[in-house]
Amino acid sequence: MPLSQQQRQMVIEALQKRNLPGSCQVCKHNSWVLDEHITYISLSEPGGPFTIGGPSMPCVPLVCGNCGNTLLFNLVVLGVWETLLKK
Ligand SMILES: [Zn+2]
Repeated sequence: MPLSQQQRQMVIEALQKRNLPGSCQVCKHNSWVLDEHITYISLSEPGGPFTIGGPSMPCVPLVCGNCGNTLLFNLVVLGVWETLLKK
């Protein structure tokens, strides 16, 4: 399920509180689009197996509307993950 408007606003406020993201590092424009989906970065031990449904980092993609440069922000580090799970 995509993030609701309220959830997206929560993520945007968490980014703004940290003065993020600033201008795009690639094209220098400032036209970011917060994707409405969460992406998970899968984690595994060095040399260990890849496990579907295993440990992961929940992140939200922020895409430059000019060049497509995509940043991933960890929702746990932003401090919004627990709240997003409840809404
Ligand atoms: Zn860009």
